[in-house]
Amino acid sequence: MTKKIFRSIIFVSIVTFLACVALILGILFEYFNGSLLDELQNAAALAEQGITLQGSGYFEGLDSEDRITWIDSDGSVLYDTEIDSGLLENHMEREEVAEAFENGSGSSQRYSDTFAEKEVYYAKLMEDGTVIRVSSSQYTVWTILLAMIQPTIFLFIIVILLSVFMASKLSKRIVKPINEIDIGSPDADENYPEISPLIKKISRQNILINRQMKELKRAGEEFMTITSNMAEGLIIIDKNTKIISYNTGALKHLGVESAEQGDSVFTLNRSQSFTNSIDNALKGTNSESLMELNDKVYEILANPVFEGDKITGAIILIVDVTEKEQRESLRREFTSNVSHELKTPLTSIYGISEIMVNGIVKPEDMGHFAETIHSESGRLINLVNDIIKLSQLDEKSITTENEPVDIFALAQNVAERLKDLADGNGIEITVEGENTVIDGANTILDEIIYNLCENAIKYNKPNGKVNIFVGRQNGKPVIRVADTGIGIPDADQPRIFERFYRVDKSHSRKIGGTGLGLSIVKHGAAYHGGHVEVESKLGEGTVFTVIFDNN
Ligand code: ADP
Repeated sequence: MTKKIFRSIIFVSIVTFLACVALILGILFEYFNGSLLDELQNAAALAEQGITLQGSGYFEGLDSEDRITWIDSDGSVLYDTEIDSGLLENHMEREEVAEAFENGSGSSQRYSDTFAEKEVYYAKLMEDGTVIRVSSSQYTVWTILLAMIQPTIFLFIIVILLSVFMASKLSKRIVKPINEIDIGSPDADENYPEISPLIKKISRQNILINRQMKELKRAGEEFMTITSNMAEGLIIIDKNTKIISYNTGALKHLGVESAEQGDSVFTLNRSQSFTNSIDNALKGTNSESLMELNDKVYEILANPVFEGDKITGAIILIVDVTEKEQRESLRREFTSNVSHELKTPLTSIYGISEIMVNGIVKPEDMGHFAETIHSESGRLINLVNDIIKLSQLDEKSITTENEPVDIFALAQNVAERLKDLADGNGIEITVEGENTVIDGANTILDEIIYNLCENAIKYNKPNGKVNIFVGRQNGKPVIRVADTGIGIPDADQPRIFERFYRVDKSHSRKIGGTGLGLSIVKHGAAYHGGHVEVESKLGEGTVFTVIFDNN
């Protein structure tokens, strides 16, 4: 703006200067022109008087600056102060002369060949019918202009310098108040009244912008509140992988303390799956991948953000799927274990029955084979039953309603049922404690005690002891089954509650174990709001304690 004003002022100054020069020249020229004609008229009047009085004698000794020509009524020159009249042609056709003969007086001007000078003529008809003509030369406007060119250029430079100086000062002064307008809160009364509508418009725009900013801030805060409470990590990036926004979940999952807006998202994590997902999203494809980080498994969901056809960025969601993955892997492991456990007895039954079908079994071996089929199918039934029980506990689909159950009476009952098994192994089984009633599912509680006692007998030593205690410990109902058996190595103790985990696989199989008993105990305890603890010394014995924390 300053430049424009500056240029305009300079332009106006130059134009004004040139116009003034032209005008002054014109006025001067016109003035001199007019006064010359007056002079010629006076000279002609004098000459007329002189000729009237003295005739051609008037010209003798006449000293005139002007050229005087006396022309006869036929146009022939009678006398000329500068040129011999005999040499001059007839003047009848001369413009001023012809005009004088017609109107009494006439004037004209003629330029020299170079246009440097012009001759001004004035002719007057005298009473005797002759014409007196007076002429004088005058410089033309071009000559004057040429003569004035030097001072004009000098003046022009001065005018230019002055106008540059003035224009610079003026333009700055004009623009200064505009520059000083406070755009944030402009005052319409200040400055120039001409820009007051503009200032009012700015004020209205400011109000609108402020309102929109508040709205934007509120939406931003709302977004932050929602995203900061999300368990999932959320990162929004632009097309150059620069972070636009993120939530605390993202930092937590990626294990970083802080992130800066504007930094590349790859400063947070550089793993192959993370970078691949983001690269794919920025190429326009939705991408899902798993990433292992700090003993956890995360699902990375990266989706592109489109604006029309263009990809402007990506949204990355980081979901902790560790539990889901663990469950999946347990399920896969369980399925493969189940298949294996089922296959072993089934293969054995199938093999024996095939031999029997083919009739190649000796009659004396029949009993042995039949017994194997019986025990293997018994194992199968036990296995299937245990799987059903476990899946019921998993699904929490126990059909029986909870009821008050005396676990002391239940323990006595189990001991009674296992007496034969205990006797068969020369094991003494005792029950101690007091009547303890808890709110629970009778069948599951029975299963818990039965499994623990059966294990205590199975993994005991000949003539060993099994003691069942039921009562309260620190106010909580407990069932404790202690044996003097083979014990469990320290390294195996944390794993014995896993499905199909056995310390000694062949020994467990031999004694008809399914590897699911302790899993059922653990889940059964959890079903009743309790947990199981184990203490064991190899070769000395084991103590299992079920504590009902919430009963
Ligand atoms: P199983 O059907 O094989 O007995 P469990 O889940 O009941 O399966 O037990 C898992 C494993 O824990 C057993 O195979 C055994 O090695 C060990 N175990 C369980 N109870 C005892 C115990 N009282 N004494 C020694 N080892 C035991």
